[in-house]
Amino acid sequence: MTVAVIGAGMSGLSTTHFLAEQGAEVRTFEASDEPGGIVRSTTVEGHVLERGPQRLRLSKPVESLVETLDLRDELRFGDDDQPLFAYDDGQLRRMPLSVRDAITTDLLSWRGKARVLLEPLTGGAKPNETVEAYLTRKFGHEVATRFAGPLYSGLYGTDADDMYVEYSLGKALDRFGVEGSLLVFMLKKLLQGTETPPIVSFEDGLQTLPEAMYAAHEESIDLETPVTGVEPDGEDYLVHTEDGTERAETVVFTTPAPTTAALLEDVDSEAAETVSQFAYNPIGVVHLHSDFDGTGHGFHIIDDGFKTDGSTWNHSMLGRDGVFTSYVGSGDSEFLDADPAVIGRRAAEEFETVTGAAATVLDAAVLRPGMPAYDRSWAALDELSLPDEIEICASFMSRAGIVGRIAGGKRTAATIAEE
Ligand SMILES: Cc1cc2nc3c(=O)[nH]c(=O)nc-3n(C[C@H](O)[C@H](O)[C@H](O)COP(=O)(O)OP(=O)(O)OC[C@H]3O[C@@H](n4cnc5c(N)ncnc54)[C@H](O)[C@@H]3O)c2cc1C
Repeated sequence: MTVAVIGAGMSGLSTTHFLAEQGAEVRTFEASDEPGGIVRSTTVEGHVLERGPQRLRLSKPVESLVETLDLRDELRFGDDDQPLFAYDDGQLRRMPLSVRDAITTDLLSWRGKARVLLEPLTGGAKPNETVEAYLTRKFGHEVATRFAGPLYSGLYGTDADDMYVEYSLGKALDRFGVEGSLLVFMLKKLLQGTETPPIVSFEDGLQTLPEAMYAAHEESIDLETPVTGVEPDGEDYLVHTEDGTERAETVVFTTPAPTTAALLEDVDSEAAETVSQFAYNPIGVVHLHSDFDGTGHGFHIIDDGFKTDGSTWNHSMLGRDGVFTSYVGSGDSEFLDADPAVIGRRAAEEFETVTGAAATVLDAAVLRPGMPAYDRSWAALDELSLPDEIEICASFMSRAGIVGRIAGGKRTAATIAEE
């Protein structure tokens, strides 16, 4: 055996898939009895529910994987032309994500909208600038605090004021090739008619993708086999599990930071200490059933006093009848320690407050460690140095989304193949 991969979530499965494509010998160890990690689809009372991500975009890397795994017929396309809302000052208001919504939304005052036009005169991110400070300098206080800040930081459950641009938003801007003005970049895209890949899921849920990746590489993936330790042995590494020990020339860690840190301890204690600093936000995921007939992708809550961070309208976005997914209590460990029934009830009550429609709870769960926070603890990234033949391909190192995880797996496999 030459490469050991720890974890069979989207990072581990992608690394396994692309290493196999390169002809490498690979053995993957997964603690759970199912592949997919945080991507977990279940069926409750006949409804397909997603415990982790709700959907992805059919960008080139995803499409090529879908073709390779013969999953095209199972794709379920979402409706892209629907608004996203902010619950602000007791009302659902359209987020300005299209030119039409930017002009008509009552989320921002005319003064706030006009301030955006000054953005091309502002400079790029400064060292140690927070996302909130950066967005305020670029677009003004109103846009930063009522739209762009909550929209971006809400994805991770972290306050925009606690995120450094350099380790979060800045990386996304670099990837899209935004050098100067964001506004000019968006206008160019609009004039060129650049199309955003469509929103998709699969008929039986997103876990269809990791399950198909597992099936394609089943002979090299051990489920229900948690790695209990890794240690150097000459130029190789020994990977310990309850079933025995395997030797590997290279080890790829794809587990969340706390597990990666624990497993790195005997390999390189300094690297382990650095990785242990990355913070996560636990998050509650509550699936609701409701007759609410609003059209949209969902809402973010801006008003204070709510435990709900936001809600995805699977019903209207993906045609999943009557299903709405609320994310609650991100980072609020005390609230998330409550019984899932209590968490679910609170989510249902708040959904009714926001939409005016009653909701019943289909399912409630808390994800731990949850989402990488991308907060100030990410400054530790600069100190991270890994020993030879140790790779980390995990959401805390780069893009957390599924598309980013596929790209990460491909990059890691290419790096190993080069070596
Ligand atoms: C609530 C939420 C919503 C999201 N929504 C979206 C979305 O809508 N669209 C999108 O594109 N992305 C979304 N994401 C992000 C994306 O789903 C994740 O970043 C991505 O799936 C993480 O994959 P991963 O393989 O890096 O990690 P994980 O999925 O965490 O996989 C790690 C794997 O390692 C295994 N493991 C742990 N310990 C051991 C051990 N000792 N030995 C062996 N195996 C071990 C675990 O069982 C797990 O399977 C969301 C994330 C969250 C948390």
